[in-house]
Amino acid sequence: MSEEKSLNFIEEIVENDLKEGKYKTILTRFPPEPNGYLHVGHAKSICLNFGLAIKYGGKTNLRFDDTNPITEDTEYVDSIKEDIKWLGFEWANEFYASDYFEQLYQFAIQLIRKGLAYVDDSTSEEIALQKGTPVQPGVPNQFRERSIEENLRLFEEMRAGKYADGEKVLRAKIDLASPNMLLRDPLLYRIKHAHHHRTGDKWCIYPMYDFAHGQSDSIENITHSICTLEFVPHRTLYDWLIEKLEIFPSHQYEFARLNMTYTVVSKRKLLKLVNEKIVSGWDDPRMPTISAMRRRGYTPKAIRDFCDRIGVAKRDNMIDLSLLEFFVREDLNKTAFRRMVVFNPLKIVITNFPENAEELLEGENNPEDKISGSRQIIFTKEIFIEREDFLEDPPKKFFRLAPGQLVRLKYAYIIRCDEVVKNDNGEIIELHCSYLPETKSGNDNSGIKAKGTLHWVSSKYAKPIQLRLYDRLFTNADMDNIEGEYTDFLNPNSLQVINNALAEPQLLKDPEYASYQFLRKGYFIKDKDSDTEHIIFNRTVDLKDSWSKEIKK
Ligand code: ATP
Ligand code: MG
Repeated sequence: MSEEKSLNFIEEIVENDLKEGKYKTILTRFPPEPNGYLHVGHAKSICLNFGLAIKYGGKTNLRFDDTNPITEDTEYVDSIKEDIKWLGFEWANEFYASDYFEQLYQFAIQLIRKGLAYVDDSTSEEIALQKGTPVQPGVPNQFRERSIEENLRLFEEMRAGKYADGEKVLRAKIDLASPNMLLRDPLLYRIKHAHHHRTGDKWCIYPMYDFAHGQSDSIENITHSICTLEFVPHRTLYDWLIEKLEIFPSHQYEFARLNMTYTVVSKRKLLKLVNEKIVSGWDDPRMPTISAMRRRGYTPKAIRDFCDRIGVAKRDNMIDLSLLEFFVREDLNKTAFRRMVVFNPLKIVITNFPENAEELLEGENNPEDKISGSRQIIFTKEIFIEREDFLEDPPKKFFRLAPGQLVRLKYAYIIRCDEVVKNDNGEIIELHCSYLPETKSGNDNSGIKAKGTLHWVSSKYAKPIQLRLYDRLFTNADMDNIEGEYTDFLNPNSLQVINNALAEPQLLKDPEYASYQFLRKGYFIKDKDSDTEHIIFNRTVDLKDSWSKEIKK
């Protein structure tokens, strides 16, 4: 049953614009700066921009906002493209702000010709001082009154490499008394003698964000330029530049950035985690990056559903990380094959099962998906169960194994624990149990009831694997409001490694890099660090939200 969802405020704007005939079709863009890997906040922006175009029959450009040569790299360009594709979106064009450097330069010349831009020799400290404060207007300096001819000559010389970094800048001539500090003659160009990942050493002046962004939108005929709320004060400048240059009037709209509990979404902060080796890389499965979520086993559908559900807000808010996990479980529950893996094995000898006998059992791959078929499981005299599934002195509602107690082995038989075998230190080393042959799963008319069902593996056939169990990277829910460094709030238990867990052999014959539900344990996916000797599985998410419960306690 599909429920009619109400429009978000950006959809309302788009519908209205189309209805009024303002545009025949819409064109949006996703404008990442290639200075890091995309994170979950970017996923929100991608789903919004591409989603709008899909919904209203328009298109979306991918535009790399590469105007800062120092921090940008082709490694990031490649990862960004891979991530967008993986999320399930296709861009109409792949563009780079750097493709427009010549055009932007010409725009700057136009502004100078109109007396709307000037070359300033002041240092950045002087400029900051002269700008005044929100309650105090700025003061003009002598460079503000330079002639158009002088400005044209100096700007050309800036381009030609005559000046050192910081020696001169190009500024728009707007209003030094504006209550909006961004209009107090904002910088348009700065000198930076640096190698650019695409233009090489062709340029030594680079446009500032405000001069590149709106102009790039306009060059591409973007209709709806959607960005996050911190750009609200930039909108006046965005409109001013477009108006003065008399170019295609793209419009900027702002929405609240996605913030998530226990998470930082700032490329600068994420980069520091990578550089200081606090995590193993941008795709360390504990990171909030798209590549990390992919490696951890999150699905594109889960991320898209999550972005859809949280909607588009006009005010900053904080989304609970467990909502994202909820959508991951929802999706994987429908698609993941079920397998049995014992994390901490305890040996069981089935005393009344013949030595060397083997019985083939049938296990459905996924009870949620009737056409998923089944796999074979071999039952043998010696098996392993989870150590925590046995207690010698169980509390009342312990429905697992205990002396004299009955329990069902999944896909197999009901067993009873007859004897607990201990070593000299009094530690339990194995259990002797008997099985009830008349209780075979799927064929049980015995009327005998066991209250619990356990997962298990055959000791003869089980394969050792390594498990990596992840928990949230930070201990504080609201990482934007902390005292001290964000790295002071790292969760020391964010990664737990279990060596020598035992898996049913089928798991290693299954398709690689599919998601599996390890019965009673959680969703898992094979990690790329695996080789033929060492098989590693990442825990994507546990079966239920144990953390929220923990907090309630
Ligand atoms: P960061 O603060 O992580 O460096 P950014 O805004 O500098 O992010 P960009 O590469 O410039 O990173 O972002 C590309 C697009 O993604 C922009 O339109 C930006 O507004 C959007 N975006 C970035 N972070 C978020 C977020 N947390 N929620 C929603 N959209 C975001
Ligand atoms: Mg940015």
